[in-house]
Parts: sequence; C-alpha cells; structure tokens
Amino acid sequence: MTDNGQSTAASAYTLPPLGQNPSTTAAGTTPGSFAKPPVIAPGVEGAYTFASPDTPGMPEPSDKTAWDFLPEGWESEIICMQATPIDASHDFALDPPDRNWETVAPLMEGRECVGGVSLFSHSGGVWRAVFFPESFQPNTQLEYARLGYITPEMERVAEREPHLTAAQVRDEVAAGRMVIPANKVHLQHQLDPMAIGRASKTKVNANMGASPVSSGTDEEVEKLKWAERWGADTVMDLSTGGNLDECREAIIQNSTVPIGTVPIYSMIIGRKLHDLDADVILSSLAHQASQGVDYFTIHAGVLKEHLPLVKDRLIGIVSRGGSLLAKWMLDHDAQNPMYTLWEDICDIMREYDVTFSIGDGLRPGGLADATDKAQLAELVALGELTERAWRKGVQVMIEGPGHVSFDQIEYNMKLQRQLCHGAPFYVLGPLVTDIFPGYDHITSCIGATSAAYHGASMLCYVTPKEHLGLPKKDDVKQGCIAYKIAAHAADVALGIPGTRDADDELTKARAALNWEKHFELSFDPDTARAYHDEDLDVDTDFCAMCGHDWCSVRISKEIVQFASGKDENYGWNKAKVTAALTPEQQAILQQRGVLSPEELHKLASKTKKAVGAASGDKAACHSDYVDSDTAKSLQIIEHVV
Ligand code: SF4
Repeated sequence: MTDNGQSTAASAYTLPPLGQNPSTTAAGTTPGSFAKPPVIAPGVEGAYTFASPDTPGMPEPSDKTAWDFLPEGWESEIICMQATPIDASHDFALDPPDRNWETVAPLMEGRECVGGVSLFSHSGGVWRAVFFPESFQPNTQLEYARLGYITPEMERVAEREPHLTAAQVRDEVAAGRMVIPANKVHLQHQLDPMAIGRASKTKVNANMGASPVSSGTDEEVEKLKWAERWGADTVMDLSTGGNLDECREAIIQNSTVPIGTVPIYSMIIGRKLHDLDADVILSSLAHQASQGVDYFTIHAGVLKEHLPLVKDRLIGIVSRGGSLLAKWMLDHDAQNPMYTLWEDICDIMREYDVTFSIGDGLRPGGLADATDKAQLAELVALGELTERAWRKGVQVMIEGPGHVSFDQIEYNMKLQRQLCHGAPFYVLGPLVTDIFPGYDHITSCIGATSAAYHGASMLCYVTPKEHLGLPKKDDVKQGCIAYKIAAHAADVALGIPGTRDADDELTKARAALNWEKHFELSFDPDTARAYHDEDLDVDTDFCAMCGHDWCSVRISKEIVQFASGKDENYGWNKAKVTAALTPEQQAILQQRGVLSPEELHKLASKTKKAVGAASGDKAACHSDYVDSDTAKSLQIIEHVV
C-alpha cells in the first residue's frame, strides 16, 4: 500500500502480451490467454496461428507452405492485396471460381499457357490466380482448396469449429496446415468430416485393433463405439491378428470418425517380410484405400543411411513399421521401398483422397534416445516426403515422438513446424518419464498437453496398458479421457475462441453449488455424480470433501449473496468430523475403476437420515430453504459429513 492507501499491485508486475480470450464473453477476471495473438491468414503469414510464444533458440516457422509445392505444370500468384475482404461470403461451391478468359487474360501475359485458370479471393481478401493444365480435375480436399472451391466437407468442418469460416478452412487446407481425412468411400457411409490442423481445435486419436493373442472383430467394433463415446476424434485400427480385412471393413462401416491404418501390417500377414515387394505394397494400399481408410501411416522416412544412427540407442527402433522396414532394408541391401515408391503411393492415395500420416519409424522409445540424430535425420526426410506428396495433390500430416523429456518437447514441435512447412503434427504422447508402467496415460498426457500447446495438432492417446498389453474397454476410456484433458487444456491455453465457455459454465454451477448442473456439465457425468454420491447422496450446499463448516464455496456464496438465512455472526465452535467409510464402502471404492455407473450409483448413503432427505432431494439444511435456527440445528449434527 502507498501512503495514501492505494494499492501498488498494478505497478508491481507486467503481464505478457495477450492472445485471444478463449471465453466468448470474457467471463471472470482473468486477463486471457498468454499465447501469441492468432493469425489466421492464407499464406505463410498464418504460420503462427494459435501458437505458443517461442522460447529463445526455438526454430522459426518455415517460410514456405503447400503453395510452394504445386504439381508440375501449375503456377499460382497473388494478384492483388485488399485491405478489406472483397467478398468473404462468396460461396464457391455454388458459384465456382471465375474462369472467364477476358478477366484472366491479362494475367496470362508472358506466361506459358497451361489452359485452366482459377481466380478466387482468400478469406482475408487477398486474390489469387491459379494456373493449371486444362484437363485437370480436382480429386482431393487439397486440390479443391487450391482451386478455391469450398467443399461440403470444409463447410461441415466450419460448422463443427465455429471460430473458423469455411473459407478459412479452405485456405488452411490449401496451405497444407490442415487436413480433412475423408476417404470418398468412407464418406458414403457414416463419416462426419473433421479437420486436423493448428487453426482448429486439438484432436485425439484412439488406437485399437486385434492382436494375434487377444480380441476379435465384434470386440473391436464395440471398442470403436466406446472410443467415439469418450471423444476420440479419429480411430486407428492397428490389428495384427484375427481377420484383418473383416475387422477393418466393420470398423469403417460403423465409424463416424476417420479411420487410420498402418498398411504394412496387413502386407506381411501370411508372407515372409523378405518377400515384400512393390506389387504387394501397391496392391495392399489400393485395397485398403478402396475399403475407405481415411489415413495411412507409412514409414517412408526411415532411410538406409539412418540405420547406423540407431546402434548406440538404449532401445533401438520401437516403431513396428520402422523396425520391419529396417530389417527389409538390411535383408535386401536396398533403400526403403516406401520411399522409392512414394509417387506411386501418392497416385493411389489421391484417387480416394486418403491422407498421409507419414510415420516416424525412428521415434525414440525412451527418454535416453529422444531428439537424437536418428530421429531428426528421419524428420528431415519427412519434410522432403511432405513436399513430394503435396506436389501430387495428397494431404499430409506427420507423426511424431514418442518418449521425450518435458524440456525438449517445444523444440521437437517447432522443428517439425519448420522442416515440414506447417503440415499438421500428430504425436504419440510423448511420455515424459519411463518409470510408471501402468500409468502411462498420465505420463504421456502431461507431454501431450505441452506438445499441443507448442505445435501438435492431433494427440494419439496412450492407455494404462501401454507397453503392457492390449487395451480393454476401460483402458480405452481412461486413455480417451486423459487425452481429452490434454487437448482441451492446450486449446484453452492457446486462446482458441469459445474453448473456455464450457469451463466457465461449470465454474458457475460449482459457485452456485448446483450439483445437478455440475454433473450435467461434466465430461463424464456418471463418474462425477457417483463420486459425489458415494459420500453424500443428497443435494446439500457443500460436499463431503470439506464438509459444511469448511466449504469455502458456500461461505463465499454467503459473503457475496448473504442469502442463506444464517445470522451475521455466523460461526461454529468446533469442526465436524467425517465418519469413516464402512467396510462395504471401502470394498466398493477399491473396485471403482471397473464398476459400471449403475453399480457406482449404488454406493453408500450414510448421510440421508442425518440431514433429513431422501436420495435425490435437497437436504433440510440447504440454503434454498433453511432458516437460521433450522440450519444451525441440522448442521451441528456431528456426523453430517
Ligand atoms: S465442501 Fe469443499 S470441495 Fe465441496 S463444494 Fe465446498 S469447497 Fe468445494
């Protein structure tokens, strides 16, 4: 305080530059996001969209985008810059780009005529002309975006991500910073299009799939529905056992989310690895693409020259695809066939609009091998493969580590952003420590939160069974929830508009001690309700964590509203003590992880009598109907909580 009684707090600190407020209404008193102010812009200017401030020494974004890697025979040019949008609401789906020769003829001067011309305005009002071979027909989301079209899938993405317009979605796809994994065949089933990219919210992938020793098609479809229930944005079928074809088909037909696979698994079932050749690779990819797989993980960046770099690692190559291809290269003394066949693979993927998830076959398998020469050499190759895929019109995302100590995560994210020109990064975790098997959904979702804040666009979940066995239903739920937390925490931190609205609503319900609303707004209402009810299955204006007298929310509510009917000199002469759990309750608690919501709801009801309420009713001491005498007499009962 100063001499005149004024607080000096305002001059005692300086806030960092603020990003966008993640709350639509700027609710509460927080100053907002500390991330960089977002720049949703069509070209390289958009590289910092929803980005964390760079720690000194971090790699800068690439000065290139997918516009710099057009197919042979194409050209693109920004033809004018407008301070304000010319026609931001123009619907290119209904009104295709202008190909009127008189309008564009002046642009053709001095140019080798390529025939087709598309003229369109980007979302920010910048006009672009694209010149392409006249016979060309767009087939992928990337190709439509390059010609200025807004596809129904882009419209749907904008509906699902209301902070983006459909034109912005198109521009992000055209820049290569966003993908819409939507195989044309899967779109004929139940697929609900979504997007992965820095301008959109962070996505979560759930892995599943039968192994040679566990699970079958029905169980995998059930797990798929379970993963969708718990918020998985995409699902990877990583089956290596059972009837792979049948399982994949069933998963595609039953899923509303994009499905990814690692096609090399099915290529080597019933075949010696040594016999893998171009015919097998291309025919397997064509078959899976025709089934409707939305994205393929292909480990084309593990090159023969990288293999000596792994010999000193503690745990070598931990990617299944990476290790198989490394063995193939050594067997044949030849380059990775996925790398040499890349353009042929692109042709197959373009036909169905399958998106690349270019695999990280040399990802570290422990902290001791993180950010090493092998991993980064592969990342350089992934950048080259990205450029080659973009030239073929195929959408690209990149897979990333793995096991990375917390301090190295930002560097890993920002190096990928630079080397792969902003192509979405899809990371597994990363786990930030190796010594907690059984809890790797936690060790990895800590890393995943940091990864999403610093640059990842999709997080591949890790379940408690990681490194130990095939995840079962409850493991899938635990993994999904851990990763929904990571993704959501990062989105709020990045200041993505509207992402904090649900948090604010729940905070309001919590402040009002409105338990029903509190449960309803929870991501997992059953568990929240059951945890509350197992100690106190009635509606009180406190909960069993602190008890009545120590409930700061209730006291704060009284301070603010003073509406509870209690006298001004409110105070108690002794603390209340929570009665211990009965042996039956203790047994139930020990089993909590495997109980159904219904079973959880059967948990103890030790307080109903004491507070004068039946299950589901408010307690007689609740502020809504208490008068001071009644409240005092009811709440002073020692065993209330
Ligand atoms: S008793 Fe404690 S945990 Fe429960 S609502 Fe009040 S302050 Fe929150």
